[in-house]
Amino acid sequence: MIILDTKKDYKNHIDILKFNGEIISLVPTMGNLHDGHLSLVKIAKKNSSKVITTIFVNPLQFGKNEDFASYPRTMNQDISKLKQLNCDILFAPKTKNEVFNNIDNLKNLEAGPKGNILCGKIRPGHFDGVLKVIYMLFQLTQPDLSVFGLKDFQQLYLIKRMAKMYFPKLKIISAPTIRTKNGLALSSRNSYLDKKSMKIAPVFYKILLDGVINLKNSNDVEKTVNYIKTNLEKNSFLVNYVSFLTTKLEKIKLNTPDKKILLSSVKLGQTRLIDNVEFS
Ligand code: AMP
Repeated sequence: MIILDTKKDYKNHIDILKFNGEIISLVPTMGNLHDGHLSLVKIAKKNSSKVITTIFVNPLQFGKNEDFASYPRTMNQDISKLKQLNCDILFAPKTKNEVFNNIDNLKNLEAGPKGNILCGKIRPGHFDGVLKVIYMLFQLTQPDLSVFGLKDFQQLYLIKRMAKMYFPKLKIISAPTIRTKNGLALSSRNSYLDKKSMKIAPVFYKILLDGVINLKNSNDVEKTVNYIKTNLEKNSFLVNYVSFLTTKLEKIKLNTPDKKILLSSVKLGQTRLIDNVEFS
């Protein structure tokens, strides 16, 4: 695996890959790689001839009081995991200038109203920061395809919309959420959970699954949202939001063939968890 940490070296390698007619896939991450991330690399591997993974803890997507400084950084372990999967290139920019030296050009790139609901409401500016880094990585790499996880459904939706507009030839692949045996969605932030919280955390997904069944039986969105919130609170979760929407992040209409989704974010102690369940 070739490891690069400057924009200049990265660009040179991309030029060679392009010249050789490779099909390039890009897997952007913030590192502390777990089996969820690795599943994206495996999907990329199956669908392209060269896989590039990026590791960059993007300061623009963290709020002032968030965990940018303490976000887990485990570069050596990450490198071994990527090598085992035969990832071709790792781009791990050594400073934020390697990614954002033209940041002023991006000042109009904003996530808009659908970036201000759900996670965007509790993390103002978060998705503007996400779109900026992903835009820069797409622009630098000009990949043929890029893989993102359905766990971060709102992020995936906004990236797909941005890509359609600015990188129309780029294919975005949505990857299923990888979970522990008892249903907890893998996340780098799970490492913040202590033993007791690790036992409670899987209940989050179980409550969401039960919520979808409840909606199907009751046909009453408001009642079901309250039912889910009560269940979450009973199990020590502090609710950030519980929301039933269409998969276009629009108001849900029951008894239609639209694809629907239940999205939720909670806090368990100081740790934020997000998850979702798609249904029709
Ligand atoms: P992050 O490092 O948290 O920015 O995540 C990088 C990519 O991995 C994003 O596309 C995430 O949606 C994806 N991802 C994170 N957790 C999981 C998971 N449990 N299963 C599948 N993909 C995931």
